[in-house]
Amino acid sequence: MNWIERMKSGILTRIKREIPEGIWSKCKKCGETTYQQALERSAFVCPHCHNHFAIGHERYVELLTDSGSFVELNTDITTADPLKFRDHRRYSERIREARKNSGMKEAIRTGVCTIGGNPVALGIMDTRYILGSMGGATGEKIARLIDRALADRRALVLVCQSGGARMQESTFSLMQMAKISARLKRFAIAGGLYITVLTDPTYGGVTASFAMLGDITIAEPGARIGFAGQSVIKQFMGIEQLPEGFQIAETVLDHGFVDRVVPRPEMTSTLARLISLLGATDSDATLRAG
Ligand SMILES: [Zn+2]
Repeated sequence: MNWIERMKSGILTRIKREIPEGIWSKCKKCGETTYQQALERSAFVCPHCHNHFAIGHERYVELLTDSGSFVELNTDITTADPLKFRDHRRYSERIREARKNSGMKEAIRTGVCTIGGNPVALGIMDTRYILGSMGGATGEKIARLIDRALADRRALVLVCQSGGARMQESTFSLMQMAKISARLKRFAIAGGLYITVLTDPTYGGVTASFAMLGDITIAEPGARIGFAGQSVIKQFMGIEQLPEGFQIAETVLDHGFVDRVVPRPEMTSTLARLISLLGATDSDATLRAG
C-alpha cells in the first residue's frame, strides 16, 4: 500500500519517539511513565499506583528538612578495610565503586537540621553504598550523632535503608549493633526522643538493632522490613511461596512491629508534629545523661 492509499484508508504511521533520559521515569511496579517534575512534586511517589520510588540521601534531605538548615557532621569518618577482605572482589574495590555511585564516604549521612522548626539530629542511610550495609564507620557516625542529639537536646531521627550488617567487616560491623543500642539507651534515659523511619529495604543487623529501637517507628508504604531476606527464608524453610504481603510495611504494622505507615508526602509534617508534641523543649526538666 503506497502512502496515498494509506492516507485514504486512515492508516497512520506511528512515529516512534525516543524518550529523553531524565525527563520521564518509569515505575518499576506498574510500568507507567511519569514526567520527572510531576514525580518530584509528589515526593517520588507514583501517581498511578502509589509505589514509592527509591530515593537517595540528597532527596531525603530536601524532602524532610527545612530549606538550608541541614549541616552535615563527621564527613571525615570514612569506610575502613580492617581485615583487608576479599571474596571474588577486593572490598577496597567495592568501597571505591560505592563512593562513585552514591557520592558518599559511608552508607549513612548524618547532620543537624530543623524539621518544621524543631531541632533534629538526622541520619539517612542509602542503599547505593554497598546496599546500605552497616560497617564500622556507619556505627561510629550514628554513635556520634546520638551524642550530638544528647548534647544539643535535639530529637533524633534515623531514616533506615539497609541490607543489614556488612559482611566484609565481620565482627567490626556486628559490634556496632551493641554500641549503638547502648548509646540509644543512654539517650532514652536522658529523655531524648528517637524516631525511626523505615524505608525499603530495612533488614538484618539494622532491623535487629537501632531500626527497631525507636520511641516511634514509622514506615514508608510498601517498604520491605524484616530480619532474614525473603529468598533466604524460602531456602531455609524449603517453600516456594511466602504469604501475600510478607515483610511488607502494612503487614508489619498489622503485627505491631511499626506504629504507623506514612506516605512519603506526609512524612515531613508527621515528623514535625510528633517532635513538637513529644520532643525536648527548653521548659523541660534538665536532661540527665545516664
Ligand atoms: Zn506505578
